[in-house]
Amino acid sequence: MKAVQIVKPNELKIIDMEKPVIDSGNNVLIKMTASGICGSDVGIYHGTNAAATYPRVIGHEIVGRVEEVGAGVTKVKPGDRVIVDQVVSCGNCYACRHGRGNVCGNLQVRGVHIDGGYREFIAVPESACYILPDSLSDVDAVMIEPTTIAIQSCSRAQLVKEDILLILGCGALGSTILKIARLSGAKIIVADVVDAKLEEALANGADFAVNLAKEDINKKIRELTEGYGVTVSIDAACTKDSLGTLLEVTGNAGRVVTMGFSIAPTEVTQFKITSKELDVRGSRLQNKKFGEAIQLILDGKLDLNGAVSHTFNFKDAQKAFDFTDTKDPSIRKIVLTFEE
Ligand code: MN
Repeated sequence: MKAVQIVKPNELKIIDMEKPVIDSGNNVLIKMTASGICGSDVGIYHGTNAAATYPRVIGHEIVGRVEEVGAGVTKVKPGDRVIVDQVVSCGNCYACRHGRGNVCGNLQVRGVHIDGGYREFIAVPESACYILPDSLSDVDAVMIEPTTIAIQSCSRAQLVKEDILLILGCGALGSTILKIARLSGAKIIVADVVDAKLEEALANGADFAVNLAKEDINKKIRELTEGYGVTVSIDAACTKDSLGTLLEVTGNAGRVVTMGFSIAPTEVTQFKITSKELDVRGSRLQNKKFGEAIQLILDGKLDLNGAVSHTFNFKDAQKAFDFTDTKDPSIRKIVLTFEE
């Protein structure tokens, strides 16, 4: 079978690879149909993702059709359309024993630490498979994975109706968080430097928008919150200075959620955290949130159609990544497909 491998940073190859076989650990064989290109895939391609190891078959937004199942599999059957959980955890470490497998001490993420979905077949445990809702095409279903990331951040934030939430950044991550956050009924403020993105966020349920390039965010947040500050802030911009901004604009007893992987040092003071007794929490990947995301779709609360802007056959992955690099404004989500 063929696969897309990042041999080393900035070197992408279509390789021949042995087709996986069902064994006791990986008892569901899936014929891939669609796999999204995420910012982190682009980071692995360009060598800016510190977690990745090479050579690597990337892709963690993994959608396909069950081809064959091992004896004892009850959750899925051949022909089922599924999405695969990208998190592989050990089950034994402190994090795993406390139900936090997404930050397992021996964490292996498909497409990052172990081979992922940019290949014709993948074999995984049945526990990693989630059946797709009929309302979503395979291509659109890749959006379930980014949705789980958003659900994780809102769950880490313990977001409830009473909250006033700031989502910093209205790109792919921020707009997905907005879709989930609005379901809580919280009041939502979005911030970005691009007016068009802010307008889109307002059309999609944000209550207020702040243009960081034109307005003083501290002042604006005080105005919008009767001087208190937001009760929850989520960093979907993930720049070096995000954390400082969030610590500033989040009010007493609030929660600050970070999602960035920047290793650039940034200056923050203990005073900001201690004096307001802020909870600063990281949100990484997702912790068994696929079921929740799919239930929201089945309940008609979440519509993921229309997010994908471009598709490429996986054998044209080089073209797809080159196109991603153009940062063409028409790009929303790019998905690799696997039809012959
Ligand atoms: Mn992703």
